[in-house]
Amino acid sequence: MSAEFDVVVIGAGIAGISLAWHLNRKGKSVCVLEKSAQAEGASVRNFGMIWVIGQANQEIENLAGQSLEFWKEASSELGFWFKQSGSLHLAYHPLEWQVLKEYASSGRCCEGRKLLGASEVSSFSSQVKTDGLLGALYSPTEGCVDPREVVHCGAKWLVQKGVKFCFDSMVTSIRSGVVSTSDGQEFSGKKIVVCPGPDLFSLYPGHYEKVGLYQTVLQMMRLRPKNNAENLGIHLCAGLTLGHYGNFKNCPSLPDLIEAQKQMWKAQMHHGIHVLVSEHSDGTLTVGDSHAYGRQVSPYSDESIDDAILEALNQFIDRDNYDIIQRWRGTYNTHKSLPYWVEEIEDSVIALNLFGTGMTLSFGVTAKLSEQLFAS
Ligand SMILES: Cc1cc2nc3c(=O)[nH]c(=O)nc-3n(C[C@H](O)[C@H](O)[C@H](O)COP(=O)(O)OP(=O)(O)OC[C@H]3O[C@@H](n4cnc5c(N)ncnc54)[C@H](O)[C@@H]3O)c2cc1C
Repeated sequence: MSAEFDVVVIGAGIAGISLAWHLNRKGKSVCVLEKSAQAEGASVRNFGMIWVIGQANQEIENLAGQSLEFWKEASSELGFWFKQSGSLHLAYHPLEWQVLKEYASSGRCCEGRKLLGASEVSSFSSQVKTDGLLGALYSPTEGCVDPREVVHCGAKWLVQKGVKFCFDSMVTSIRSGVVSTSDGQEFSGKKIVVCPGPDLFSLYPGHYEKVGLYQTVLQMMRLRPKNNAENLGIHLCAGLTLGHYGNFKNCPSLPDLIEAQKQMWKAQMHHGIHVLVSEHSDGTLTVGDSHAYGRQVSPYSDESIDDAILEALNQFIDRDNYDIIQRWRGTYNTHKSLPYWVEEIEDSVIALNLFGTGMTLSFGVTAKLSEQLFAS
């Protein structure tokens, strides 16, 4: 006999945790199956940036804004650290400054976002280098969490609320409402939600090509400030980020900037590097990232990629003020045009895949899904 639940969730990353949180609030019985002893996928390997500003269009930005509100609520309920840190996009090249000015005069520049002159930036972060700085775009809407804390606090709290978690439980098949694990257990769900991150490939290989999913692999580092370094206080990024997120895509000067960056930042552009920095409650920084695409990506971390990340970081904060204390790689699925993917792939079996801004969108996407699952 298999144990029966309203919903069986596969994967205890942020997709599974946030979905279980919404469903538990609705009084549904939930079982979360996780193959590892604790979640160790993208949800513990990211910056912890709730990056509302970076969304490709207004509709997704609105969803990110709703998600941010859930993040705040979940933080006080589940007990993890959350800071509404805001963000600065720093401009050191005239074309970067031009793109920021174009964004600032567009309809997307709302929610208290504004341009700062170079002399105003220090009052937001004294660590930012002002040599050659032309100005910055300030946005108050970005949040910060420590991802490693979130998924573990989340699971612990949900267990206390009656959600069943089975760790070390690798799902091997899903047939007619029954989920089987490699140790021979079976779990029945009125609905089954499959959120295994990139491992979706193992459970539903056919959907990879059909949907147009592909993997993205990133290199990341954690830095600890040396004695004299002050806090950053805010998320930081600079010119390379402008070509990376969809919110700047309609700025007329962006193509010229990208052409110029191919000359100025050869190694960085070659490895898909743009540098983001988040600061956690203990003062450590998460710094990244590079982007390699496809399932044939080299399994080895490359020191020259980390060097190129640190070179770009050193443009806007003094890299010598920090020691590298950890390095890692992370993987998520991506799609050319979708910001995330939710689809009923078999009767009552729903696949949920979050992509590059999946932490940001998670609680918003799973709020919608938790409504839809039991809508008649
Ligand atoms: C380096 C990096 C930096 C990022 N930075 C940010 C950021 O700052 N802000 C942002 O918004 N987004 C960011 N993202 C994206 C975000 O982290 C992901 O979109 C999100 O974490 C995906 O969550 P998930 O739960 O879908 O997948 P995952 O976190 O990968 O979780 C999937 C879980 O399913 C489990 N699983 C897999 N197969 C099975 C199986 N067969 N049986 C049981 N369990 C299984 C896995 O063990 C894993 O724990 C980043 C991603 C990476 C990699």
